[in-house]
Amino acid sequence: MTMKIPFTDLAATYQRQKPEIDATIARVTQSGWYVGGPEVAGFERAFARATGLPFAVGVANGTDAIALALRALGVGRDDEVVIPALSAYPTTVGVLQAEATPSFVDVDSHGLMDPVAVAAALTPRVRAVVCVHLYGNCADAPALLRLCRDRGIVLVEDCAQAHGATRAGVAAGATGDAAAWSFYPTKNLGAHGDAGAVTCASEELAAKLSRLRNYGQRNRYEHVERGFNSRLDPLQAAILSVKLTNLQHDNARRRAIGLAYDGAFAGHPHLSPLPVPPQALPNRHLYPVLLGSAERRDAFQAFLAERGIETLIHYPIAMPDQQASAPAWSQGRDFPNARRLCACMVSLPSHPDLSDAQVAYVIEAVQDWSRRC
Ligand SMILES: *Cc1c(COP(=O)(O)O)cnc(C)c1O
Repeated sequence: MTMKIPFTDLAATYQRQKPEIDATIARVTQSGWYVGGPEVAGFERAFARATGLPFAVGVANGTDAIALALRALGVGRDDEVVIPALSAYPTTVGVLQAEATPSFVDVDSHGLMDPVAVAAALTPRVRAVVCVHLYGNCADAPALLRLCRDRGIVLVEDCAQAHGATRAGVAAGATGDAAAWSFYPTKNLGAHGDAGAVTCASEELAAKLSRLRNYGQRNRYEHVERGFNSRLDPLQAAILSVKLTNLQHDNARRRAIGLAYDGAFAGHPHLSPLPVPPQALPNRHLYPVLLGSAERRDAFQAFLAERGIETLIHYPIAMPDQQASAPAWSQGRDFPNARRLCACMVSLPSHPDLSDAQVAYVIEAVQDWSRRC
């Protein structure tokens, strides 16, 4: 019997908290307060507490969060920002939105920013490093911070995939000068639309971010710097406040699914789960596996699709190889690890609304495929 296993099931996630979310939407709608206000401030406090940082500033989306964090830290035109060659393309777009120039470096075998590659890329024009905790696996942010501090470079953590992830006991977002978060619906903490936030430890930086997201306004009709319109709206903030109460539960479910896959695929002859860095506790935003070649990966994906299992590739094209990327941003560097991952990886469904039966069905389909290899 064929089951249908969607890669994500956001409607099912909503059903689990339907009464609270419906009541929340009604409350905000009836309040008549549709931009800013207590719902946004309430979520910012709750999210700051959840991440262990003193300040959270809600913004319109995760891409803006990267751009505003960089702008608030003084990064702009003529500055270079070092970013990994493998990430969701919005990491690049956030740098461009800050009017800075991306400088790509290769990732390590975990798909994460490699401090050795970063050290080699720190030219005098570099003003910032943006590390990405890709797939919910934390990059070595403390090692990157040591490189940055020596040279007066700022570190921003792209935490769009890292809600609740830790490494060596250090939470995602706790190390850099600022952390950028996305609440795009499919993230581990997802809104019912676009939403994002920047967290930081500095009150001054938080105040600057609050101005930048709101037309550079300090007091009403008093504009003290060049700003943007990039606000988190109260409806999304209120929904996120409800969903934040489920984040730990959902992450635990994702981890349990990850453990089931790990157990089933350990020592597998035809595929290997992407290795998790030592001491990292991933949030299992994604569960990527590696196949021997692009052809095998494509055949594997087609085989699972025939059995009703939806898989996705994160990401099929390394950021330096995207048409939108200028060759100058690669500075003649090579990106063998990023390109190999793009060619050979595929993500299995691992969202928190998968049932045990669905997880078993995915595992059985993978074993069935390998029997035919
Ligand atoms: C989703 C994502 C973003 C962008 O977030 P949006 O809210 O969609 O703008 C940035 N970086 C990474 C790594 C992401 O996964």
